[in-house]
Amino acid sequence: SKPVQDYLTHTFETYPEKTAIHFMGKDITYKELYESSMKFASYLQGLGIKKGDRVAIMLPNSPQAVIGFYGILYAGGVVVMTNPLYTEREISYQMKNSGAKAILVMDILYPRVTKVMKETELENIIVTGIKEYLPFPKNMVYPFIQKKQYGITVKVEHRGSNHLFSEIMKTGSTEVQLPEFDFEKDLALLQYTGGTTGSPKGVMLTHKNLISNATMCDSWLYKTKHGEETVLGIIPLFHVYGLTTVLILSVMQGNKMVLLPKFDPETALKTINKQKPTLFPGAPTLYIGLMNHPDISKYDLSSIKACLSGSAPLPAEVQEKFERITGGRLVEGYGLTETSPVTHSNLVWGERVKGSIGLPYPDTDCKVFQPGTNEEVPHGEIGEIGIKGPQVMQGYWNNPEATAATFADGWLMTGDLGYVDEDGHFFIVDRKKDMIIAGGFNIYPREIEEILYENEAIQECVVAGIPDPYRGETVKAYIVLKEGMSITEQELDAFCREHLAAFKVPRIYEFRTELPKTAVGKILRRSLIEEEKTKLN
Ligand code: ATP
Repeated sequence: SKPVQDYLTHTFETYPEKTAIHFMGKDITYKELYESSMKFASYLQGLGIKKGDRVAIMLPNSPQAVIGFYGILYAGGVVVMTNPLYTEREISYQMKNSGAKAILVMDILYPRVTKVMKETELENIIVTGIKEYLPFPKNMVYPFIQKKQYGITVKVEHRGSNHLFSEIMKTGSTEVQLPEFDFEKDLALLQYTGGTTGSPKGVMLTHKNLISNATMCDSWLYKTKHGEETVLGIIPLFHVYGLTTVLILSVMQGNKMVLLPKFDPETALKTINKQKPTLFPGAPTLYIGLMNHPDISKYDLSSIKACLSGSAPLPAEVQEKFERITGGRLVEGYGLTETSPVTHSNLVWGERVKGSIGLPYPDTDCKVFQPGTNEEVPHGEIGEIGIKGPQVMQGYWNNPEATAATFADGWLMTGDLGYVDEDGHFFIVDRKKDMIIAGGFNIYPREIEEILYENEAIQECVVAGIPDPYRGETVKAYIVLKEGMSITEQELDAFCREHLAAFKVPRIYEFRTELPKTAVGKILRRSLIEEEKTKLN
């Protein structure tokens, strides 16, 4: 029952010289991480940041993101994680909504923040160049943001100001007035939802929420050797999935994090080969990307012991291939931002059930309800998944209506449809909002995607219900083929007809070179449907 940052203090006291972070060829010890975080906290307090003030971080995975996170917490602040790919409008929305007073931002994103500063309560911008802190090899300057793609001016005009992160690290004091914390009530994080289904809402997560979830993962998921594991951190720390399963968990266990600022299959394979990570949380698209790399056999991936796959359904094909190649275990779990995020998973070292998200975590209750009511459906029937547990959020920031609509009788309603089998294993059928109603039939895109993934020509796919004047919606499949593979619409149609009832078979196929994704690699089905709607108008 200690606040999140106390685990860093404890790990630093236990293992001061152990490596906390490996980043682009450089190691940072727990002592360095602790002292840097204290310097940042001290600086924030000097700027007037007080208990409960919101401070944003807008960085890709990097040592600064970690230092920023713990620094804000030591100062008594509440962290607002901001996606570095956000546009000005999105930054402005999140800063206004959260009321953040300061932001730690990467130098190339700085101009974007200054443009919206006036509309927000931001008083201070602290600028850090990933390049300036830890030099990249020449050919890897700014790997996260492609300058051309986002039209960003790299030059930072206010370099001379006293808000340079590197200056704070060089000359800052480590003296901090450590505030008292209420473990149960005090917020540690305002985490905005992914926005897959609508405009982002600020999920209020307390110290208790985050620590409970990390503890559950520690005891239930991996059963790892504290201080001896190496965690590969590719999923973004600015999403709660990475924050809990990479950052908070590693620091709690005294492990080493190997951080990568961007998912690029080749860099990831090289990093695994060299850094020998043992744990690797990720999302299906990430494992798919690795498995389909043409040179995969050149790399030694045998260090990997356990991976948790979350955020979207894990196709059985991908799980089997990954386990065959690495010799490690890849288990499916489930969660959402509102639950810090993990609520279920299969067991890494125990029984696993194909297609299931596994069992609820310790202290976590899960029931299946008649959608829109708080009545349970009979065992085995499909309904909406509801969760109770210490990892469940306090509500949405400044949004009591949305909070009230999400809770029923103290149960967090997830918006996901699923069922439970006789042994208590849970299965997700689909999102309530993604269910397709075509010609009066209920169709679950996930079932069709599972079939498509069995076709060896397909690298990635997503199925969506697109507007149709006669059938209400019609089933459309978006397909990305594996390199060097080809297949026609007719062949795909025949393949689907072999495995699916006729009303579920996609009526339209579209081949693409890539699919739109969220920061954690989830395919953005909604944005494809929006595209279709725009075409119709
Ligand atoms: P928003 O809530 O703003 O629409 P989002 O859904 O991307 O965005 P997250 O909290 O990142 O927000 O994602 C949680 C959702 O991810 C869950 O509600 C569920 O639909 C999906 N999900 C997570 N794990 C799995 C899984 N193993 N299988 C199927 N779906 C999953």
